[in-house]
Amino acid sequence: LAAHWQILLALILATGTAIVFRNISKTVSDDSQAYIFIQHAITVCGFVGDLFIQALKMIIVPLVASSIIAGIAGLGGMDGFGRLGLKTLGFYLSTSLLAVVVGLLLVNTIQPGLENGQADPEIRAALESQAQAASSEEVAKVEAAGERKAGDYADLFKKMIPPNIVAAASDNGQLLGMIFFSVLFALAMTRLPTDSMSPLLGTVQGINDVMIRVTQWIMLFAPIGVFGLLLPTIYKTGPEIFISLGKYFLTVLLALGIHMFAVMPLVLRLVGKVNPWAHFRSMRMALLTAFSTASSSATLPETMHCVQKNSGVSKRVSSFTLPLGATVNMDGTALYECVAVLFVAQVMGFDMSVGTQFAVVVTALLTSIGVAGVPSASLVAILLILNSSGIPNANMAVVALLAVDRLLDMSRTAVNVFGDSCAAVCVARSEGEGVLGTQPAPKKSLV
Ligand code: ASP
Repeated sequence: LAAHWQILLALILATGTAIVFRNISKTVSDDSQAYIFIQHAITVCGFVGDLFIQALKMIIVPLVASSIIAGIAGLGGMDGFGRLGLKTLGFYLSTSLLAVVVGLLLVNTIQPGLENGQADPEIRAALESQAQAASSEEVAKVEAAGERKAGDYADLFKKMIPPNIVAAASDNGQLLGMIFFSVLFALAMTRLPTDSMSPLLGTVQGINDVMIRVTQWIMLFAPIGVFGLLLPTIYKTGPEIFISLGKYFLTVLLALGIHMFAVMPLVLRLVGKVNPWAHFRSMRMALLTAFSTASSSATLPETMHCVQKNSGVSKRVSSFTLPLGATVNMDGTALYECVAVLFVAQVMGFDMSVGTQFAVVVTALLTSIGVAGVPSASLVAILLILNSSGIPNANMAVVALLAVDRLLDMSRTAVNVFGDSCAAVCVARSEGEGVLGTQPAPKKSLV
């Protein structure tokens, strides 16, 4: 069975098992054998899922550093590097803006928080009860987040030049410092005599090859990891939540879907002259990993593998665009922040003028750059936007959203990763690289 089918099967099996477990748990008493077994099974699954994510994260630092150095020092050096950077950032910024516009249009048309033009009291009650049911851990997380200020996001730019590369490398989900150092390292290598540098280059290329092989090994465990991650998630998410917050869920999913399946394919065609279908196929393993882990950072090794191996993008382009994208480019997150903030405003009966909405858009764009590629990271940004726009009950709303976040998080992470991969192929094309899927795929590949 091909790897992506195995993962899909794991997704389906985990969902089915979780639903069965949930129904059994509801009918038996808390001290029955069945209940205790289920709780143990959930703990074991969570443990296995964590191991999988940790294994992926384990290789990020050596993989990113070695591929940036091998990519730049080995294949092209300084030539056109500034141009590459500008193109990448331009692509990231404009596609995030497109995502935000899609989110804004949908939340203003569907108005998931309103009923006949008025704040919907039922949804508000649902949020309140969700917030009350939240664990003390979740409440503490939101309270800690509330202490962050907008200025904290400016710190991101400070992180670009890390005072300590070891500390930068251990900063979970924030790769900027490491990217900067590796680029500098590589550029310095190109300025030194080739003879003295070639052993070093050979070593770095060797490390990179090794890391790619290790990634493949870890991905062999993906079906088990995915099963472990998904079962507890679905078990904890009751169907009730889809009834009361269904309109909100649908708005987010629809907006994410439009961005991923309509807007980005158009961008791929027009900007990259790339066949979107071929690109989806190349990226399927990375997309499934992103969906299961809800972390762009943890997915990065697989994203790099798919873009280099399946799409045929050079290391020079992919090793720079993808780690950068996993850190700063989050289309799904930017879109989600807008929808969530406007939804909360609607529920709380807070009238958003066009000016305030514009401010929300700008902050959502900026904070999506600062948000780390780890699960539920954008909730912090949402709290910040809610507080700065003066929307009442911000803490309560965010606690409630956090409690129901995982499925939306999984979806927006897939969109985030997809956006990064689109940048990699479009930039590669514009650099004159032939990328798989640049010709219309033959008909038979459709089946
Ligand atoms: N989990 C997302 C990611 O890793 C970030 C977010 O919470 O929106 O891309």
